[in-house]
Amino acid sequence: NRQIVVAELPKDALTPGHFRMTTTPIPEPGEGEAQLRVILMSIDAANRSWLKGATYRAPVLAGDPMPTYAVAEVTRSRSPELDVGDLVIGSASWSEFVTAPADKLRKMPGIRPLSHLLSVYGIAGKTAYHGLITVGRAVAGETVLVSAAAGSVGGFVGQIAKAMGCHVIGIAGGAEKCNWVTSELGFDACLDYRDSGFNKALRAACGDGVDVYFDNVGGKVLEAALFNMKDRGRVVCCGAISQYDTDTPSGPRNLPGLVVTKRLRMEGFIVSDFARDDDKAMKALRHWVDAGRIKVTEDIFDGLERAPEALIDLLAGGNTGKRMVRVSAD
Ligand code: NDP
Repeated sequence: NRQIVVAELPKDALTPGHFRMTTTPIPEPGEGEAQLRVILMSIDAANRSWLKGATYRAPVLAGDPMPTYAVAEVTRSRSPELDVGDLVIGSASWSEFVTAPADKLRKMPGIRPLSHLLSVYGIAGKTAYHGLITVGRAVAGETVLVSAAAGSVGGFVGQIAKAMGCHVIGIAGGAEKCNWVTSELGFDACLDYRDSGFNKALRAACGDGVDVYFDNVGGKVLEAALFNMKDRGRVVCCGAISQYDTDTPSGPRNLPGLVVTKRLRMEGFIVSDFARDDDKAMKALRHWVDAGRIKVTEDIFDGLERAPEALIDLLAGGNTGKRMVRVSAD
């Protein structure tokens, strides 16, 4: 059983040397557990934040197998709830085989391709849905701004907002990505935050101002977005990618000043807060995907050994859409 562990916790940028491939016996399930063959692993910006200490989950420590969320097949079961051959999603690690308690795994029959379970019907799609609708309270006709717009969560946020009848502006790194966000994902505009004319271009694109800013990145981009909010606008704090891969974070300088003068509401959330509404989110997402309103863009690396590279490259902006690693065949 090949498994990738964290060799050393990173300071500043993550490198391949922070991980180490090991070989362990295939783990045997205990009572109430299943043994799983990992098929697809989700690679998320948040993985980097787990290496910085406790967050909404326990910290990952040096020597730990790198945790992930995965689609897997049950290869042994010691639970009456699961049979060999069942396809499940749940927490795993960067490994070929893992064990997990049956009550922490979800059977997901009928969805193909399986990769959709980690993208539009997984954490990314649900985060976009709950964040935009429940936290951001976006409604038709409003202007929605979203950062990391060519990424997984951001791409779904913008497409859901378009499907709801909002005017949608994206922010992404580089002209090529911005073109892709407008031409392929259908955003009304997309601005390159790395361009020297970004602040001016953002002001022009935002017109009367932004009703909902869905913030995936924090830092300077959040600062620029705050200047363009309408009075009583809502800022959905989903993540802070610009702060993850560094030990010298830089925050917006206009906080809390602009929050006060513009009467803004900033609210953070974790997708699991809204698990009670996941069925509603799934139904809506399936409807939009089936109707062609949401394009599902996936960016899959092949081979467990490529997981460190897949994460490092995602943090550098190498992905368009949902990044994953395929560990074994369906
Ligand atoms: P993405 O697919 O969006 O990939 C990350 C993207 O971030 C890169 O492609 C890159 O695009 C962009 N990026 C990297 N560095 C910077 C920077 N310094 N400034 C601006 N953009 C940068 O990742 P995810 O979909 O996995 O995650 C998106 C966000 O959603 C993260 O903040 C994550 O933590 C959050 N999240 C929150 C959840 C919650 O429950 N609150 C659940 C799931 C995710 P570019 O080329 O445009 O720079």
